[in-house]
Amino acid sequence: MAQLLITGGAGFLGSHTCLVLLEAGHQLLVLDDFSNSSAISLERVAELAGVPLQRDQPTLKATLEAFTLVEGDIRDTQCLDALFTSAKAFGQPIEAVIHFAGLKAVGESVQQPLRYWDVNVVGTQRLLTAMNFHHCRTIVFSSSATLYGYPHPNQIPIPETAPIQPINPYGASKHAAEALLADLAGCSGKPEPIQASSGGWRIARLRYFNPVGAHPSGRIGEDPNGIPNNLFPFITQVAVGRRPELTVFGDDWPTPDGTGVRDYIHVMDLAEGHREALHSLLNSDPQLLTLNLGSGQGASVLDVVKAMEATSQRAIPHRIAPRRPGDAAITVANPTLAAQQLHWRTQRSLTDICRDGWAWQQDNPNGYGEACL
Ligand code: NAD
Ligand code: UDP
Repeated sequence: MAQLLITGGAGFLGSHTCLVLLEAGHQLLVLDDFSNSSAISLERVAELAGVPLQRDQPTLKATLEAFTLVEGDIRDTQCLDALFTSAKAFGQPIEAVIHFAGLKAVGESVQQPLRYWDVNVVGTQRLLTAMNFHHCRTIVFSSSATLYGYPHPNQIPIPETAPIQPINPYGASKHAAEALLADLAGCSGKPEPIQASSGGWRIARLRYFNPVGAHPSGRIGEDPNGIPNNLFPFITQVAVGRRPELTVFGDDWPTPDGTGVRDYIHVMDLAEGHREALHSLLNSDPQLLTLNLGSGQGASVLDVVKAMEATSQRAIPHRIAPRRPGDAAITVANPTLAAQQLHWRTQRSLTDICRDGWAWQQDNPNGYGEACL
């Protein structure tokens, strides 16, 4: 059992990972500013895990229980210092951090590059500074397959050693944060995905492919603000009648049915990947790991439409439109390294993804917006 700090734990990926980590017996301190989430997700995680959710201040009034929530910003150095100092004062020093907090909308990043660099790069730098000062040197970082840009067809499925070529400010900010982590580990400019690190740092940079779906209970899931940019939440909102039709961005891609192909990974598989990455780091010598988290399987836009139609027993009206600027034809992970290193691989299929995502959407047609606990 370890005392962990989870930044951005109220978000889509963070909430599911919190549940898996609580079930593994860890004590969690969540730091979130709710800029893209609601505390209801964590109330529901607490209910599913059968533990109370304590709310506290960064200065922590009381001994940490299994699950504590502090509202705050990762860029707030006083808040970070107070958290690490107070946890230590109660004899429960933070042993590791899982760092989800960040901004993730590609289009928004093009409009607001300074904000993206501020939260994703400056925020990460301040977090690492606090960790370093307080001798907490184990971190799992949320990176992204977006770093691979437009992968060359010869490099599908994509290995971790594929060229890094971000094509938007969001990707650039993740690349910068990855570079900072490599610098800290004493591995600057070295491309190998598994390396010994210096300074006592244990670091996992996890490059997610397309996380989708929801916890099978239907109690927690993805709750995008406004009109979803991503395919999966858009399709579930069409299926439930919240939106009239799906726009398919291009049917002239060099793929089997002409629509874009992605590697969709069930959010519970992703959450379990974090548990395994954390355990691997805690039990290893200082190292820098860079791992893809994906299924290794590609699904086209029309494959996802058909799978959701079969699950929901509803037609998903869709029309073909021109390609979306900035899209790649195919991104599919080579997940071999994560399987070797973490003894982890995805367990859940596209059918499971649709079943669980659909249950969440039906039970929570407006996400957490008008939710009753
Ligand atoms: P999310 O927006 O649901 O969760 C992010 C959480 O961070 C939210 O709860 C938000 O309120 C919080 N947050 C944002 N800025 C903060 C700040 N300054 N201080 C404290 N908290 C802050 O996103 P998600 O889908 O759960 O993604 C989590 C991480 O994984 C992000 O870093 C994202 O870039 C990365 N990622 C996500 C995907 C994806 O498809 N969901 C893919 C690749 C990488
Ligand atoms: N897509 C689509 N219509 C939408 C949203 C996405 O056709 O409303 C396509 C998109 O062009 C891509 C795939 O679905 O081929 C996955 O897109 P998403 O934005 O979910 O993931 P990303 O492109 O970031 O991997």
